[in-house]
Amino acid sequence: MELEQLRDELDEVDKKLLELFIKRMNLSEEVAKVKKEKNIPIFNGAREQEILQTRTEMAGEWKNYARSLFTELMALSKQRQWDILNGDDKKYGLIGRVLGHSFSKVLHEELGCNNYQLIELEPEELENFLRDTDLSGMNVTIPYKMEAKKYCDVLSEEAMAIGSVNTLVKHWEDKEAWYGYNTDVHGFLYTVELAGMELSGAKVLVLGSGGASKAVSYGCKKLGAGEVIIISRKGENNYDNLEKHYDADVIINATPVGMEPNIEEQPVDLEPFTKLSGVIDLIYNPRRTKLLQQAEALHINCIDGLAMLVSQAVHAQELFKNREFPMGITRRTQASLTRKLGNLILIGMPGCGKSSIAKAIGELSGREVIDTDTYIEEKEGMSIPEIFKKGGEALFRELETKALKELVHKKGIIISTGGGVVLSEENITYLKYNGYIYHIERDLDKLSREGRPLSEGADLKELYQRRLSFYAQCRDSVFENNGSIEDIARRIWEDFCEHLR
Ligand code: NAP
Repeated sequence: MELEQLRDELDEVDKKLLELFIKRMNLSEEVAKVKKEKNIPIFNGAREQEILQTRTEMAGEWKNYARSLFTELMALSKQRQWDILNGDDKKYGLIGRVLGHSFSKVLHEELGCNNYQLIELEPEELENFLRDTDLSGMNVTIPYKMEAKKYCDVLSEEAMAIGSVNTLVKHWEDKEAWYGYNTDVHGFLYTVELAGMELSGAKVLVLGSGGASKAVSYGCKKLGAGEVIIISRKGENNYDNLEKHYDADVIINATPVGMEPNIEEQPVDLEPFTKLSGVIDLIYNPRRTKLLQQAEALHINCIDGLAMLVSQAVHAQELFKNREFPMGITRRTQASLTRKLGNLILIGMPGCGKSSIAKAIGELSGREVIDTDTYIEEKEGMSIPEIFKKGGEALFRELETKALKELVHKKGIIISTGGGVVLSEENITYLKYNGYIYHIERDLDKLSREGRPLSEGADLKELYQRRLSFYAQCRDSVFENNGSIEDIARRIWEDFCEHLR
């Protein structure tokens, strides 16, 4: 059967599945209403097990897949039933001092919490806020994780051991009391597992001594780390005597150094560490901090803070709603946020089709497309040939770097770059902060030269050989553009939608 025909059949099956899914969810809602009327709890372990058992047996050779499918379906039904029984009018939020760059609202909305607010507080406002607020649950961030603990009536074991809270909940059975939890540990353990890092017996340096540092240190010990050393600006182990720890196995950045808007900062230089096998940066905005970019360049296994952010938020939602969330929701939400916030960047030789591909991906995805050459022309009020005439390649490169510096703070866009953008280390750093970078390869004899000051009359083979190592150093992925624009645009978009880290 032809691929197109198979795809059409799949579309038909999906349509039927969707109809049945909607029917199932509607029935779940009816069940919830009956349960509410008769005061029957949502969770019925015996019935769930029975459903799982029978459905799995009916699936024959697909039984393992069917088990996963029905586990997920039942979790979704329970989620809907919970919302009906408890009403979804409860309010939640995040408290902190400066929240302009927080992803929490987007994230909790992804998790189905539509009444989540960001609340900036000054230190002197905290006590009154916690006493008077009508929030049923909240997350806590810089600088209140330790302070908020003092206002908790009950602390979880982990919050007590760590000495800080990042989640406060008013449980329905005790609406007056704040229960304090620390879900950062949960998120950290998930991150280490996702990255495939081995902490057992390892010497770990944790940079910073704040709330996150405490949770991470607790997590490292839980994973059997041999030594956990806190590097603190004022501590016994500090940035002036780091050489004592150049034999560290893993470094974890639990400081805000390198976070938006100060993305050009880096807490430590990784070069002198001779045994490093892992770097974790708890920062998730930008996704690839300078620290992580250096780790990648040194081929050290590394991961940013998004997995931790999502995983701790899922656990916070479980605490808010007092129920387990469907399996796989953490990975799905992480992928969805990665898609939403990450920039898709195209690099490659002049005339390889970057602009057309970017436009086609823009049409497929509905994303804003920025062509750096057009951006420069609009900003400067001059065409590229005019810029070359005025100040040569030097002026053009200067304007190109300036453009990238401005674009670096944008999220969820497509950027098509000029062919020589990769020649500057500074440009590569800007592209990598929030970008996933696709190198477009095209046969040299097919490259377009029209209106391109640097490739008109140039020896393209020589230019390509000079640039290839720069493209290779910069790219995350490479795609050949020797077929149709629509086809490569679709393949790149599919690839972008799938990558998690
Ligand atoms: P915090 O309680 O304010 O602690 C941050 C610590 O970083 C401070 O105690 C300080 O330690 C150090 N620090 C602050 N400014 C510094 C500077 N300019 N240079 C060097 N060190 C500095 O904040 P936190 O809640 O622990 O959060 C720390 C970082 O982790 C933030 O970037 C936050 O976004 C991130 N985080 C991420 C997640 C996640 O889910 N991915 C969760 C929690 C936190 P010393 O004074 O001892 O040097």
